[in-house]
Amino acid sequence: MSFAGEKAPAPQTFEHVLVAVGRVPNGKTLSAELAGVKVSERGFIPVDRQMRTNVPHIFAIGDVAAPPLLAHKAMHEGKVAAEVAAGHKRAADWRVIPSVAYTDPEIAWVGLTETEARANGTAFRKGAFPWVANGRSLSLGREEGSPSCCSILTITACWAAASWAVTPVELISEIALAVETGCDGADIGLTIHPHPTLTETIAGAGRGVRGHADRSVSAKK
Ligand SMILES: Cc1cc2nc3c(=O)[nH]c(=O)nc-3n(C[C@H](O)[C@H](O)[C@H](O)COP(=O)(O)OP(=O)(O)OC[C@H]3O[C@@H](n4cnc5c(N)ncnc54)[C@H](O)[C@@H]3O)c2cc1C
Repeated sequence: MSFAGEKAPAPQTFEHVLVAVGRVPNGKTLSAELAGVKVSERGFIPVDRQMRTNVPHIFAIGDVAAPPLLAHKAMHEGKVAAEVAAGHKRAADWRVIPSVAYTDPEIAWVGLTETEARANGTAFRKGAFPWVANGRSLSLGREEGSPSCCSILTITACWAAASWAVTPVELISEIALAVETGCDGADIGLTIHPHPTLTETIAGAGRGVRGHADRSVSAKK
């Protein structure tokens, strides 16, 4: 493989190559301005919650509309735009865009993060449940412990309630539903989850939000 650029190293041979070049919006290549549609300096097309551009009958969705540049965000926005164009009262809710990373261990999150909550002074309660105390993760040989625990945040300001979780990718949708419906960690904790499953860690972390028993841990900011 050869490299380009001023300080490019000499050509080298590799067994594997990970390409992670990132993505950019192509708003500036569309000649959108000919239709009167505004395009930002970075190439995004600003939209409102109904996905309308500044020209109300022209919609923009997906990567060209705004970050995050994710497929499920684009699909959601496409449905909102189609329904609005058909005369329905719909609006996008960008709080509920799950992010997933297929690392090992996997990590997924949705809603306001703990770092963001601390940064803007939002009060929250946090519950966490270590994988090492979960029967299903033990039987799967994935008991790494608290660094890969499931944790849930219940925000008591700004929104009625919102949650955030660090959890394997396949488990994030329950938390997304919690954020979308405004239920908090205690609601999740009161929901009976089957045993033995990884989903029990979500319930355990939910109970931890209220400082309830079992092997979960809780903290209040
Ligand atoms: C390598 C890679 C991996 C990814 N992995 C993930 C992932 O795991 N999970 C995830 O959520 N997202 C992932 N994404 C991001 C995801 O693919 C995008 O967020 C999503 O496709 C955006 O949808 P979109 O409809 O906005 O744009 P696109 O899917 O890019 O669709 C735009 C379409 O418009 C066409 N087009 C462009 N310009 C013109 C023009 N002037 N005239 C006519 N047609 C035009 C293009 O050819 C294309 O077909 C990945 C992206 C890449 C590149």
